[in-house]
Amino acid sequence: MEFGTRLPVLNARQSGGARSRVISKVMSALEPSSTFLFQYTYSRLSKSTATDIKAKYNVVVIGSGYGGSIAASRAARAGVSVCVLERGKELQPGEYPDDIHQAARETQVDINTGDSIIDCKLGQPTDLVDVIVNHDVTVVKGCGLGGGSLINANVGLDCDPRVFEDEAWPKAFRDDLAAVNGVDREHAWQMLKPAPYPRRYPSLTKMGQLKKAAKAVAKEVLDIEDVDKVFYRPTLYVNFKDTKSNHVGVPQLACVGCGNCCSGCNYGAKNTLIMNYLPDAKNHGADIFTKVEIEAIERDGEEWRVSYVTHADDNAGEERILRADIVILGAGSLGSTKILLNSRKR
Ligand SMILES: Cc1cc2nc3c(=O)[nH]c(=O)nc-3n(C[C@H](O)[C@H](O)[C@H](O)COP(=O)(O)OP(=O)(O)OC[C@H]3O[C@@H](n4cnc5c(N)ncnc54)[C@H](O)[C@@H]3O)c2cc1C
Ligand code: SF4
Repeated sequence: MEFGTRLPVLNARQSGGARSRVISKVMSALEPSSTFLFQYTYSRLSKSTATDIKAKYNVVVIGSGYGGSIAASRAARAGVSVCVLERGKELQPGEYPDDIHQAARETQVDINTGDSIIDCKLGQPTDLVDVIVNHDVTVVKGCGLGGGSLINANVGLDCDPRVFEDEAWPKAFRDDLAAVNGVDREHAWQMLKPAPYPRRYPSLTKMGQLKKAAKAVAKEVLDIEDVDKVFYRPTLYVNFKDTKSNHVGVPQLACVGCGNCCSGCNYGAKNTLIMNYLPDAKNHGADIFTKVEIEAIERDGEEWRVSYVTHADDNAGEERILRADIVILGAGSLGSTKILLNSRKR
């Protein structure tokens, strides 16, 4: 078994300032038994050696964000051969940036404004935070095993069916709303385990200020006296209880309140996809590879031909091929579109 990282809890306890005070408060609110869990290490889920990729799989999943990881877990559970290919690296708790310099080193920027003086590419295509600057739209997305889940803000809300009734959605989509609203979301909740910020945790200044603002809006705009009718603690994809082995066998610490969720959780408390769907896929036989970027997919008889390059050291940049019965495009809205556009050119 290949072992990952040791959690940097001592660093957090020793660091000074407001962050350390919040962490100390949270730790004193945790169960006393929690400290023994600070010894945890994490196993690697992926390989970055492209030579281990087999020539053919039943299912090839491109990208390892929510779309890719959920599909990989479900397909692996169905007993077919599954391969997940992710462009970014695998970062386990303890390996995420912890200060502005480390964050800068984990950021890739692609500026495409049409102005040759400022247009450029900075960083590596495997860096964690992926920023694309265009003339009128700038996009920030996650790049790594777990995709956007690694750097998102953890807020996990169920979708309100009224959102999909908006005429902005394509007609074909609106005509199929029964199927959209009927999706088994209960399964996702059981895997991602959303939970509100617990009342036993320290009160947060920002939450207090938001409640104050909500009270004013409720009274003056909505004519509602009871703020609790409009203000609530949303559910978060965060673990608030130490566990040696979660529902897929991964250890997780309770959240220490460090506030670094959007640069990656170094405590294993955030319920990112490397804490649930991806280990589940691996437990059910999926092969997972990082630093592998798909260039294009093409139909070849009964199969799909998937062309990729690797960013790992072994023959990096050389185009290779694997084959699949089914390809699942889970490279995000921009990444999947880019693959489809590249594929059309071939
Ligand atoms: C800072 C931030 C905060 C957010 N906060 C929230 C929040 O609080 N709540 C919420 O619900 N949503 C939030 N989101 C949005 C949410 O994270 C995304 O909607 C979600 O991650 C999208 O999932 P996805 O599977 O479509 O794509 P992604 O998660 O983007 O995954 C796509 C993966 O594919 C990989 N990839 C791309 N191209 C290729 C290629 N050619 N070959 C191989 N791999 C490739 C990428 O590296 C990436 O890992 C936030 C996003 C960001 C950036
Ligand atoms: S979930 Fe966020 S606040 Fe909690 S320990 Fe992880 S990074 Fe810190």
